Order: sequence, then structure tokens, then C-alpha cells
Amino acid sequence: MEFEPVIGLEIHAQLLSKSKIFCGCSTTFGAGPNTHTCPVCLGMPGVLPVLNREVVEYAMRMALATHCRIAPVSRFARKNYFYPDLPKGYQISQYELPLARDGWVWIETENGPRKVRIHRIHLEEDAGKLVHDEHQPFSYVDFNRTGVPLIEIVSEPDLRSPDEAASYLKTLRDILRYLEICDGNMEEGSLRCDANVSLRPSGTTPLGVKTELKNMNSFRNVQRALEFEIRRQRALLERGQSIVQETLLWDANRNVTVSMRGKEEAHDYRYFPDPDLVPVEIDSGWIEEVRAQLPELPDAKRERFMKQYALPEYDAQVLTSQKALARYFEQVIETFPQPKAVSNWIMSELLRELKKEEREIETFPVSPDRLGELLGLIASGVVSGKIAKTVFEQMHTTGKSARQVVDEQGLVQVTDQDAIEALVDEVLSENPREVEQYRGGKEKLMAFFVGQVMRKSRGKANPQAVNEILRKKLARKESP
Ligand code: ADP
Ligand code: ZN
Ligand code: MG
Repeated sequence: MEFEPVIGLEIHAQLLSKSKIFCGCSTTFGAGPNTHTCPVCLGMPGVLPVLNREVVEYAMRMALATHCRIAPVSRFARKNYFYPDLPKGYQISQYELPLARDGWVWIETENGPRKVRIHRIHLEEDAGKLVHDEHQPFSYVDFNRTGVPLIEIVSEPDLRSPDEAASYLKTLRDILRYLEICDGNMEEGSLRCDANVSLRPSGTTPLGVKTELKNMNSFRNVQRALEFEIRRQRALLERGQSIVQETLLWDANRNVTVSMRGKEEAHDYRYFPDPDLVPVEIDSGWIEEVRAQLPELPDAKRERFMKQYALPEYDAQVLTSQKALARYFEQVIETFPQPKAVSNWIMSELLRELKKEEREIETFPVSPDRLGELLGLIASGVVSGKIAKTVFEQMHTTGKSARQVVDEQGLVQVTDQDAIEALVDEVLSENPREVEQYRGGKEKLMAFFVGQVMRKSRGKANPQAVNEILRKKLARKESP
């Protein structure tokens, strides 16, 4: 029997508000342990939480960007459980009345674009962090993260493969970053993802029993954990055994999922409306205000790049995956209005440099107009494409402009016919045997001659001119 995977994701995104969700403490990451705390986020008795308006607005941005309906009235609830990183003994979350519902996003899959429905988006507070000592039998609690705002984005079970799950996660991360409400860093935990997965016989509709996977701190790990879990469930079902509904932890070192606990039910948490907080009322005026301030989002920008700059979909996809990269591209276009050439350069040379240096485009030292200048030098034949790569490297190590690097190092391309002819003559007279072989039909030797001439010119000869002159000279019957 064939089985079809069914996957739904619950994504937690830490919001970039300056202060916490219910108190004035800073949300800045990396401060000394327990320095960003106060009686409210430490859960002291007798204090009252006050909702941060900026947080609500950030969540509204995400809700609108993912086509959700924002509830005119939503409510906070207490989710009760014990854990040492949760000083109040309950987490303030939203339960029966979430902030937003019923949205969708388009994702890329290997079978083309697909719509994935979003069940709900709600607000909640983060818990603290336990720090385990590797060598001592102690654990420490850091409450700086307690009360940092989160949105939880719950998808419908619309994903059908680990690849689709990764694509959906990436789509949401790109949107969160475009909206500037979350930095989307899975390794650092500002974006976290729990994956729910079940199998069902292909062609049937009822959902199978699911397991929930936690502890995947990269896109790669989300995919690998799902792949492992799908294999595990399939093996059980094929042997006629049933799946136990449970929560599993991904162990990235051993590449296996490990049972953590039996799945708790909602009623285990004794959810009830938080009596310390008034309902959140959002009127249409506020919604329209937030909508009007939304930036152009990845999908729209990609479509526009394809139309306006006649770029292939792949290029448009890569360039618009980050708002800052798209902006960089458009700024280069202003100095050098040949979109495909700019796109090629960014996608190969620039992204490679960024990756190599583990840098973000925001801090890349070559400004867009300087890259535009370099591309102009290639287009006008001043430097060859090959030399330009060296120039580009030097531009960002030395901070100099393309023109400066080219002038200082004498990298101007040799296009002068006489100069190239002289080099070609030298090469041909130094290699009489190869010349004879070429004329005898071994035409593959052309690459050898071109290489020799390029070497003599230290890479500066215009390759096209070299080719033409070589062809002309080698075609002659008399010796050069
Ligand atoms: P729970 O109450 O166990 O948390 P929810 O109904 O809240 O379950 O769903 C949590 C997530 O699991 C959602 O993203 C949802 O799409 C997904 N999900 C629900 N049922 C299944 C299933 N049978 N197989 C795969 N995913 C599922
Ligand atoms: Zn506080
Ligand atoms: Mg749930």
C-alpha cells in the first residue's frame, strides 16, 4: 500500500519589539542573565500585565500579509503547566479567541506553486531559558526571555512532503523579514518550528494519527526530521502496527527522533481567560492603517521583477528572497540599466562572496553604484569578464572603486588588434608542432592556443579578438 504524508507546522516567531509583551523590560538578546527582568515578567504576586501596543501591530502585519481575518475581539488565556523556566506557572497565550484566522500563502514546490492555508495566528509570551552545565549537576535559569513576544502561526495540514514543509517555512520567514517584525534566525531560536506529521493511504481523505516533532533548529533539520519520521511511521504501518500520538524530539547528532512525552491534550492545560487582561479590540480603522503601511511583499516583488526587468522566474525568486538584496539590485540598475547582467553578477559573484564571508548584504562593502561602475567597464570592453572577478574581489578587500583598481594594476583589457596579433604570432612560432597538428585537422588545439595567448597577456587580452585572430592566422597555409 502507498502512503501519503500529511504535514502541518506550528511556527513561533519572536517579535522585534523594543520591550516585552506585558512589561517594559528590554527584549535585547545577549544581556547578562536575569538583567532584563521585573516583577511582572518574573511573575511576582500582585502585579498586573499591560499589553504592548507595538506587539499587537506587528502581529497584525503578519496577519494581513498572510491574508488572515483579524478578529475584532480577541482574548488572552492562561495555559497552565509547570516548568522551571515559567515563573508564573502559566503562559499567557491566546486560545479560543486568537488574534487572526483563516489565511493562506503561496509556496513553491517541485510541482509548481501551491496554496497553503493558515489556520490561525495568535500572540503569546516566550518562556525563560534553562542553561545546563555540562560538567556539573546544575542547571541555571535565565528569565531575560520570559515575556518576549511571540506569534504562533498554525498551518492547516496542507503540506505533503518534507520539501514542501521547508518551502512553506522559508516563505513565512521571508515574509516576517520583509515586515521587519522578526529576524527569522532558526539557529538562534528567534524562529522555531514544530512539525506535525501523519501518513494516510494514498487517495484517501481521513487524517491518520500524527506525531509532533520538536527541536529542529535549521531548515535542513526540519526536513531531515520529517524524512526520518515518515520512514518510521511507514515501517510501522506496513507491519500493521499503529502510530502512537506523541511528541518526539529530533536528535540532530544521531539523526533520529526520540520520544519525549505522550501528547498532551488541550484540556490538560486548563486554559481559561486571563482575568488580568482586558480583551483586545481592533477596529477597522486600525487595520486599514496597518495595511496601508505594509511594504511590497516577496510575491508581489517577484512578479514585478519578472515583468519590469524581464527576468526569469528563478532570478526574480532569488533576488526578492530578501528585501535588502532586492533593494541592492534595483540600486545597481540605476547606474547600470541591464537587468539580466546585473542579476547574473549578483547571483553568482556577489552571493558567493556573501556566503564565503558569512555576511549580510546590508554590510557588504561594495556599494550598488560601484558594482554598477564595474559592470559598465565590462560592457564597454575596458576589462574582461574574467578580470572583472579579480577586480570585484579587490574592490571589497581594499574598498577602492573599480576604476581605481583597474588603473592602479594596469588591468585594462587589451583590445588593440596589433598588440594581440603580436602575441598570437609569438605563440604560433613557439609551438610549430601544435600549429602543424591543428592544420592537419586537430581543431581541439584552438583552446590550447587561446590559453597560451591569454597567459602571455596576463588575462588582459580580449578573448573574442584572440579567437578571431588565431582563426585567421591558423587558416593560412603558409607559416605565420
Ligand atoms: P494539537 O491539538 O495536537 O496541537 P492541532 O489541531 O492544534 O493539534 O494542530 C496542530 C498542527 O498539526 C496544525 O498545524 C495542524 O495542521 C497539524 N495537524 C493536525 N492534525 C494533523 C494530522 N492528522 N496529520 C498531520 N498534521 C496534523
Ligand atoms: Zn519585565
Ligand atoms: Mg495545538
